[in-house]
Amino acid sequence: MLPGCGKRLLVSVAGSMLTCFLVLVAEQQAPQPEPEPEAPQSFSAYFSQLSRSRRVAEGGDAEGAGPPRPPVETLSPRDVFVAVKTTAKFHRSRLQLLLDTWVSRHKDMTFIFTDGEDEELKKRTGNVINTNCSAAHSRQALSCKMAVEYDKFIESGRKWFCHVDDDNYVNVGMLIKLLSSYPHTQDVYIGKPSLDRPIQATERISENKVHPVHFWFATGGAGFCISRGLALKMSPWASGGHFMSTAEKIRLPDDCTIGYIIESVLGVKLIRSNLFHSHLENLHQVPKSEIHKQVTLSYGMFENKRNSIHMKGAFSVDEDPSRFRSIHCLLHPDTPWCPSNVAY
Ligand code: UDP
Ligand code: MN
Repeated sequence: MLPGCGKRLLVSVAGSMLTCFLVLVAEQQAPQPEPEPEAPQSFSAYFSQLSRSRRVAEGGDAEGAGPPRPPVETLSPRDVFVAVKTTAKFHRSRLQLLLDTWVSRHKDMTFIFTDGEDEELKKRTGNVINTNCSAAHSRQALSCKMAVEYDKFIESGRKWFCHVDDDNYVNVGMLIKLLSSYPHTQDVYIGKPSLDRPIQATERISENKVHPVHFWFATGGAGFCISRGLALKMSPWASGGHFMSTAEKIRLPDDCTIGYIIESVLGVKLIRSNLFHSHLENLHQVPKSEIHKQVTLSYGMFENKRNSIHMKGAFSVDEDPSRFRSIHCLLHPDTPWCPSNVAY
């Protein structure tokens, strides 16, 4: 399976601490989230700098770190369009779990984007969109799905577009709370980067002319959101067939293409949030006491190991390897299938 661009780069960056050190020292001029102090003199100084850079890259100084922002708008779930990207082979193995848990409470806001007809799935939830995109995990197939997600969102007239993968748990209450603190008419792009520096790419300007670009992007596997105001501005590069041609111009996957249009073309900065989580980070580091505050969670593989939220809960790891059922019972203990006498 072809991993996303974020994942490939993350693995190469995290591959060797030593390489990372050399790169940090050698690339002082490279754009950083905030001005870096001088190269550290000792390894302990280096390690504290590294963890500080990681905190910044993960949004430690941004959304989710300080006190909650006050609401600026009253939002209801129907103001938000949550696109879930999936593929026919994951309808049983992944989507079922989402339909049993967070989607079951919010069918109105959730739109499933897939690549094959499935009558059973349509019986279980209303908004199933067959994109007719290829079922491959190729750059083109994934961009094809993102293009349809974007067009359907614009058509829906809703205030916020959010994209998640089919291995994400969405804590809808917290998502609404977060989005309510930004005006949907302004330019808002919020999510979590999986890299600790902007991605470098080349933009094809004409047949034989390229131009280097660098920009931040929110990793698709953690989920991200875009305000309607900003989404409308993206239209010349994202609507109709334009998303696919924009993706071709920089030859990067769908989530990177979104970042390119927003940061590089439109000059709008990504708002980093550490409330979004993909399985490209160590999910064991989300403390149990903080689970209810997170906007998205995930499960899957990280550095060749199984990765999921670490918690005791209503179900054992064997019964519930993703931990999504246990998380759902923690957040919504009134769910009929949640055991009633669990001490959390
Ligand atoms: N996906 C897809 N087509 C495929 C394989 C995957 O649309 O052929 C979707 C999948 O449903 C998920 C996203 O792409 O929403 C990422 O896939 P996965 O979690 O398997 O890969 P990774 O997180 O490692 O990139
Ligand atoms: Mn995944």
